Formats: sequence, C-alpha cells, structure tokens
Amino acid sequence: MKKINESFICINCKKEIPLASKTCRNHCPYCFVSLHVDWDIPWDRNTTCHGKMYPREYFIANWNMKILFECEKCHKQHRNKRAKDDEVENLDKFISLYKKSLL
Ligand SMILES: [Zn+2]
Ligand SMILES: [Zn+2]
Repeated sequence: MKKINESFICINCKKEIPLASKTCRNHCPYCFVSLHVDWDIPWDRNTTCHGKMYPREYFIANWNMKILFECEKCHKQHRNKRAKDDEVENLDKFISLYKKSLL
C-alpha cells in the first residue's frame, strides 16, 4: 500500500494545502474539510463515496487532539489526529458553522 502525501487544493476553501511534514494529511488545515476516500483503514482509499467530511467535534486524548469527522453523504464517522499546522484556534468556529449548514 502506497502512502500518499502531496499537496492538493482544498475542495472546500480552495486554498492550496502544503505537504505535511510527518503525517499523511487528509483534512484541510484551514477549514478542516476532507474528502471521504478511506473506509476503515486510513488511506485504504476503499470507498467510492467521495462526499465531503466535516469536523463535528474534537477531544483531547493522551495530550493529542483528535477530531471527529462526519461524511455529509453516507454519515460515516472518522477520528483523526490533528496535524501540527492545523489552525485549531479556528476549529470551534468551523464546527458551529458546519452544524448550521448540515442538518
Ligand atoms: Zn479548506
Ligand atoms: Zn461518505
């Protein structure tokens, strides 16, 4: 299985997302939206859903922030570690914003 780690354009905010230094990035560090491409294993690319995944909530476990994402299409949920350069100070704002638009 090949890990994919390359820059891409965010499907939501259209900003260019730079390479993550250590981890494979799968969500946008600016608006936290990602594409539903994995099924059970991260990066398995085993789904054809391709809906947008929005952050729903976050929590701290073992000093790491984890973010819960939910797919707008199939409502599959995923937990993901934050990336180092995620703009987490904006995360609260985005979570409540997406709550309003996704009911
Ligand atoms: Zn974005
Ligand atoms: Zn989905």
